[in-house]
Amino acid sequence: MNWLEVSLTVNPELAEAVADVLGRFAPNGVVTEQAVAFLNDEDEGTPTGDITVKAYLPMDERLEDTRRKLEESLYYLGMIAPLPAPAYNFVGDQNWMEAWKLRYQPIAIGRKLMILPAWMELSDQTRVGIKIDPGMAFGTGAHPSTQLCLELLETVFEQKPAPRSVIDVGCGSGILSIAALKLGAEFALGVDIDQAAIVNSRENAQNNGIPETAFQLGTGSVEEICAGAFSITSAPMVLANILAPILIRLLQAGLARLVMPGGFLILAGILEHQAEEVVQKAQEHGLHLTDRRQINDWVALLCQK
Ligand code: SAH
Repeated sequence: MNWLEVSLTVNPELAEAVADVLGRFAPNGVVTEQAVAFLNDEDEGTPTGDITVKAYLPMDERLEDTRRKLEESLYYLGMIAPLPAPAYNFVGDQNWMEAWKLRYQPIAIGRKLMILPAWMELSDQTRVGIKIDPGMAFGTGAHPSTQLCLELLETVFEQKPAPRSVIDVGCGSGILSIAALKLGAEFALGVDIDQAAIVNSRENAQNNGIPETAFQLGTGSVEEICAGAFSITSAPMVLANILAPILIRLLQAGLARLVMPGGFLILAGILEHQAEEVVQKAQEHGLHLTDRRQINDWVALLCQK
């Protein structure tokens, strides 16, 4: 099937109305794109500026009719608020979902792990596959910080005895917990302040054949775990791949208390110039640095209690 892409770039107030109009004519719904700005150190990205709304019309015998109706609807909307003219772009003879999928290759991490999109089968049987859809927002495995965490996780699981349970603070896609479970952990607790991350983690856990009882998930953070809101309050391995200022705050809130004596804490999401401060804070809370990994500006720390 060939498609005609219709797009309009408008201010955020108008985007919903435009999406509504385009959506009436596009069988696959609409796509919106907006730039992201980082307002401060703790900001994980705030959408800013104009929004581009795109829709795809099937290029069939009704195309001209559909296009006329669509322009008519936009004309009426334009009488309420001024609108730019729609831009049209022919999307060639290809299945663009398939083309999109082809761009993704499995990512080998450390000695044992391999991150794959959910539609791909593991070809290298010497590795442990973790299926995470790259379309998902959180922790696709492509981020250097996630890769560093996975590498450190792997080294901890090579130790004897390996940790039997993990706590994953800011679980995102659930990727770190899923890796820990695949590497031999019997139980993982994943928390995140974003409910969408919990839903996404559950989905990914299912795609990876993780039994529901092995992976507890819930909305919350360090405070809730310390307060006993979940089935465990500590573990021999704790993971937190968030951002340095948040890690520092979480250390103050009791992050180190989640780590059993002798256990490990992986801290990541840290930029090179922030690492020293995070190491110091970890030390103040009874942890010492045992390993440090870096890719580009990103640093991950392995600490032991
Ligand atoms: N663990 C995943 C995702 C990292 S992204 C990975 O390694 O790839 C960081 C996640 O932390 C996001 O999902 C975000 O919602 C969550 N987060 C941010 N602040 C948090 C806080 N104070 N407590 C718990 N989770 C938090």
